[in-house]
Amino acid sequence: MASAPAVLTFLGTGDSLGVPRVYCSCSVCEEARKTGRNRRLRSLVRIDGLEGGGSPDDVTLIDCGPDWGGQMEAAGLRSIRRMLITHAHFDHIGGLVEWADACRWTKQRGQAYAPAEVIPDIRARFPWLDRWIDFTPIEEPLVIGCWSIRSWRVHHGFNGYSYAYRFDHGETGYAWVYCSDSIGLDEMQKAPLRGADLIVLGTSFYREPYPYAGRSVYDVTEALELREELQPGEMLLTHMSHDIDLRREYGLPDNVKFAEAGMRRILD
Ligand SMILES: [Zn+2]
Ligand SMILES: [Zn+2]
Repeated sequence: MASAPAVLTFLGTGDSLGVPRVYCSCSVCEEARKTGRNRRLRSLVRIDGLEGGGSPDDVTLIDCGPDWGGQMEAAGLRSIRRMLITHAHFDHIGGLVEWADACRWTKQRGQAYAPAEVIPDIRARFPWLDRWIDFTPIEEPLVIGCWSIRSWRVHHGFNGYSYAYRFDHGETGYAWVYCSDSIGLDEMQKAPLRGADLIVLGTSFYREPYPYAGRSVYDVTEALELREELQPGEMLLTHMSHDIDLRREYGLPDNVKFAEAGMRRILD
């Protein structure tokens, strides 16, 4: 019997500070406060059904930023079976503290998977998490249901390094990539992006005005160049700062879209 396809849902599409930025009164941040089209919580996605068995508990998150509690509430989720972590920056792991507390109260240990070198970085920031969360280094590949999942190190510019994830379905051949925090990928780092049906790529600005040496995430203009080169079926942009105004028409190609909270894709 063919298994039900997994479903990807965006729960957060903001950059490290989210939108609105606390200190900022720009028109995008003001719109985010008033009507909320541009309101963006820290980047986080939910994947339902990786195991393929149709269990409602089969929910995986990629990353766990400081907006995690509100994102769980908005999604109507009471618990999380597993998490995949991209890197140990606060906007991607700040919510682990709250998750660990939830695990303590529900007496269910959390299962977090991360590249081996990321785990000590997480522990260095929050040394008590191991009491309630099991951190498992990702073996290559991590196999869940029909999905083969691999992670690889990507340049994160001024901010050091992050990891991207590629998911390959063994039966359908569907492949998709989550790469929220990267810039200036070299050929080796780009290779796993090739042949993907869907690429989720982080782009903080439309055209980032700051000197390259101080930057850490692609901008939209660079993402479009990458799309030209890689030709994915679709590209969804996430990890967006207050520079990106969803009320504006950017003239993106048909198969490139800005992700928004609640946006879903069937991974099939
Ligand atoms: Zn980030
Ligand atoms: Zn602003």
